[in-house]
Amino acid sequence: MASPTLLMRVVASAYSVAEKAATIVRNVMATGDLGIVEKTGANDLQTKADRLVQKSICASLARKFPKVTIIGEEELPPDEVDEELIEDGHCEEILKKTCPAQYTGIKEEELVIWVDPLDGTKEYTEGLLDHVTVLIGIAYGGKAIAGVINQPYYNYEAGANAALGRTIWGVLGLGAFGFQLTEAPAGKHIIVTTRSHSSALVNDCISAMNPDSVIRVGGAGNKIIQLIEGKASAYVYASPGCKKWDTCAPEAILHAVGGKITDIHGNSFQYNKEVKHMNSAGVLATLRNYDYYASRIPSTVKQSLVP
Ligand code: AMP
Ligand code: MG
Ligand code: MG
Repeated sequence: MASPTLLMRVVASAYSVAEKAATIVRNVMATGDLGIVEKTGANDLQTKADRLVQKSICASLARKFPKVTIIGEEELPPDEVDEELIEDGHCEEILKKTCPAQYTGIKEEELVIWVDPLDGTKEYTEGLLDHVTVLIGIAYGGKAIAGVINQPYYNYEAGANAALGRTIWGVLGLGAFGFQLTEAPAGKHIIVTTRSHSSALVNDCISAMNPDSVIRVGGAGNKIIQLIEGKASAYVYASPGCKKWDTCAPEAILHAVGGKITDIHGNSFQYNKEVKHMNSAGVLATLRNYDYYASRIPSTVKQSLVP
């Protein structure tokens, strides 16, 4: 067998790095000392887990792939990173898969990795643990082409004997793994949206879609999981607030299984290293029937959200 390509080695490492991250997320919670800091306000928090996990992910990947650009959500002082935080393993199963032909020649300098060390921090601090994910998105040529989503508390309500946590990963042109792709109920409009960053605009946009039901949960990673597991038919968020690290890994996984994610105007997201971090014109994502939801967005909502 040919030796694995750079992209597959990065994804295989990101998988193990995300599993280490999940352990840190659970350990910090177990200590009971979250070390909460407000960033822009009470709905924009950072905990000790966000800080430690970002250090772990960024330092681990930078050590293996020194020329890759890595952009993490948290602004941290450039301290030495404790060796205990470094993960140098990789997932063998991923290395056995064939890299899509269009990505075989990628060089380190051409990759940008977007890291959300803990997505759903607000929910983490409130004990809504299964909303939390760790997101590692991989971009090439401005496009999200691969991603890893770890859910540290997957199954936590299933009791002490259930296996806790899971890792979902995907590459465009190869597919996505670690979950069972499921269609949402046919003919129903089930919208998933924010629970902690609502606004009149967010709610107006959802009402215009004639929803049969609305699921309000935290995290961009968590909401994409709702789409690919058939719990919801569209993720609708007509507001600025989500950033590139929130959407990169989820986008790669959703696109790998044939879904679509854009801003509220239908523009695709760009992930080159110079791009503005904020997704100012919101998020619209579906596994199927994207056009229905896009067609229902009121023009007043569109006018309020400048890309
Ligand atoms: P949510 O759906 O509210 O959980 O948001 C998904 C992701 O986007 C999380 O990482 C949030 O922190 C972030 N986000 C969305 N809206 C805002 C906002 N208004 N302020 C700060 N972060 C936001
Ligand atoms: Mg986030
Ligand atoms: Mg975060």
